[in-house]
Parts: sequence; C-alpha cells; structure tokens
Amino acid sequence: MASLLTLEEAQERVLGLARPLPAEAVPIAEAGGRVSAEDVRAQVDLPPFASSAMDGFALRASDAPGTLRVVGESAAGQPFETGVGLGCAVAISTGAVVPEETDTVVPIETVVQQDNKVEVAQSVEPGAHVRPRGGDVAAGEVVVPAGVTLTPARLAAAAASGVAELRCARRPSVAVLATGSELVDPGEALRPGQIYETNGLMLSSTLTAAGAEVLPEPPVADDQQALREALERGLAADVLVTSGGVSVGEHDLVRAAERELGVEEIFWRVSIKPGKPVSFGVRGETLVFGLPGNPVSALVGCELFVKPALRALQGLADPLPRFEPGQLAVGLRRNEERDEFVRARSRVDGDALVLEPVTGQESHMIVRSAAADALVHIPRGNGELAAGSTVRWLRLATG
Ligand code: AMP
Ligand code: MG
Repeated sequence: MASLLTLEEAQERVLGLARPLPAEAVPIAEAGGRVSAEDVRAQVDLPPFASSAMDGFALRASDAPGTLRVVGESAAGQPFETGVGLGCAVAISTGAVVPEETDTVVPIETVVQQDNKVEVAQSVEPGAHVRPRGGDVAAGEVVVPAGVTLTPARLAAAAASGVAELRCARRPSVAVLATGSELVDPGEALRPGQIYETNGLMLSSTLTAAGAEVLPEPPVADDQQALREALERGLAADVLVTSGGVSVGEHDLVRAAERELGVEEIFWRVSIKPGKPVSFGVRGETLVFGLPGNPVSALVGCELFVKPALRALQGLADPLPRFEPGQLAVGLRRNEERDEFVRARSRVDGDALVLEPVTGQESHMIVRSAAADALVHIPRGNGELAAGSTVRWLRLATG
C-alpha cells in the first residue's frame, strides 16, 4: 500500500485549492468576524484635531507658572474659534478642541480657580495632556491590513478612522450532510440498531461559528440513489462536508457516489488518529470533504481540514490551525505510524499550561470528548513522550 499522506501534505493540498471567494462591500456594522479583503485606510487623521486628554485648562506652557485669565470654554463636540491672548487660558474638557494658540492642558486637579482666574503653581511640559492631530494614525495610512479577522478592536479602528464599509470575501456556503442508515434526529424514539445523529449538528454549529452560511440537509441513508440526490444538492454549495461512509465497508458509498457525480478525488486517508479515512476532492469550484462517521473523527477532521479551508475561502492570510505550546500532565505512548490528536483539558499551573488527557480516547466517545478544550498533537514516532514534555495543542471551542 502506498504510504499515507502526512497531515502537512494533506493540508497543503487543501489550501492549494481553497482560494478566496469574490469580495463584496459590507457595512461596518455587519462586518464583525468577517475577513478584510483589502487594506483598510484611514479616511481622516486620528484624532482629527488636537484634543485634550484631561478635564482642565488649555494654555501656553510659557505662561506657567502664573495666574491666567479664563477667557472661554472648549467643550467636546464644539468648534473653538475664539482667540486666546497671552496670559489667558480656556476651560477644557476631555476630547475637546485644544485652541490653536495654546499648546498644553493642565488638569483641573492641579490648579486653583478663583472667579475667572486660574492659578498654575508649577511650570508645565509643553504638549502635556494634548493628543496631537494624527497622533494615532494619519489619513491614508492602513488601519487594518488585508487578510485578517475583523475583531472588535479592528472594527473600532476602522470606524474611528471614518470607514463606513469594508470589502470582505463573501461568506462560503457549506452543505452539511450526515450519511448513515442508522441515524435518527434527537426527539424521535430509537428503534433497535439506530443511533442519534450527532455530526451534522456538530459540524453545522462549528462551521457557522467559522463564518459559513450552512445549508443543513437531513441525514441520508446508505442508499445509492438517495445519496446521489443529496450529494448533488450539496455540490451546489461552495463546500460540501459529509460525514460517514468514507471507510472501507460495503456500505461506505460516499466516495463512489461522488466519483459518479464528477468529483475529482484529491486525497483519501491521512496518517492521523483519529480521522484517518478522511477524503477531499473538488468538483468545479466546490471543495468536497468526506469526514469519517465517528463523531470524534469528524470533529478532528473538521478542525484540521475543513475550518482551515473555510478561513482560506474567506481570505484569511494565515488559515492553518494555531497550535500553542503546553506540557503533558502524563506520559503518552507515541503511535509509530500516525500523528495522534488527543483530547485534553488545559489548566494553568504557575507559569505552565498543563494538558490532562480526558479518559476515553476512542473515536466514538463524543461525550468524553465534550469535556475537552484542547486537541493535543502527539507526533508519530517511537517510545513515549514523558510527563512534562512540551507538546503543541489546539484550543477547541469552549464556553
Ligand atoms: P462510518 O464512518 O459511516 O463507518 O461510521 C463510523 C461510526 O460512526 C459508526 O459507528 C456510525 O454509526 C457512527 N456515525 C456515523 N455517522 C454518524 C453521525 N452523523 N452521528 C453519530 N454517529 C455517526
Ligand atoms: Mg456509515
């Protein structure tokens, strides 16, 4: 048998075919969580005018120390156009225009006020408590680069610099299809041999959170005709994700049905555990993922292949999963042939991030896996990784 693709090779093939979808204009109020398709540039200087960082008095630094005459007030949201003579000050609030003739603000707490006079006892640093125009960013500069997620702070940066609309790749449509004659939806009574459908629900939820427009399909039986019809519908989406039916059993019909429908298979089987029988193909512009039916295998395949593809379709510059370093709480035997992905709970212990594998690592044990917040990568090889070894781990969705 030809040697299996490694995880890295398989991910490279997926990302090689996952090109950003065409961009569309998105109002900033709806752009949270989307990905910027181009550099976003400031429309204005920020701050747009020299503004006060404190409530106090605006004056010339050269007039301090001294007693100054208060000739007006500059309040937030108002222009300030009155002239300010030598030896004069202006009452000012945080965020208000610093009058042109003044260069410094002294906080209200540091002065003595009497009638229309203000006494500044000490000398002041020119420019103190003044936010210069353009001090954060100048008009025309990039405030959010292309290819990043529009986090709350990035949205705020764009809004603050006057951007009302951004260009983002359109959201990928994703058809999710669970296959298996044994599957029934929760809420129905189980007949002998049946189990509750898990994967469609899990994949729809995680892929929606990853930016997809999910088109759920009812589960389909292991029946050639029914399967072909459901797959054909799913192939109209940008991405089709199936679960089940990609292994070597007699009822594993998904790959053959896809082949008949014109899907070109790019790979089948990757040297990972769980999730080895995963398949990937394309038809036209549609990416087609066949995840194994065991729920934990489907979850792992989704994290390692489907979510990176979705990020790439949305134009994210860095679509691969982000692994972080941590330490194993217990020793683990390595698998000679396959990279393993062990479900674990993470905890902070002093300066260390410690990973405790959950009990029950078999790929059907979704309830055990639901207690995990970490997917720990145990690279294939000989022997054991001792307790305390540094490993890479991927954060799973937690709440
Ligand atoms: P398969 O990959 O079709 O051979 O399925 C492997 C195992 O996963 C079998 O025990 C199936 O019953 C189970 N399975 C398949 N699809 C689902 C699903 N959507 N939800 C829960 N379990 C599933
Ligand atoms: Mg099956």
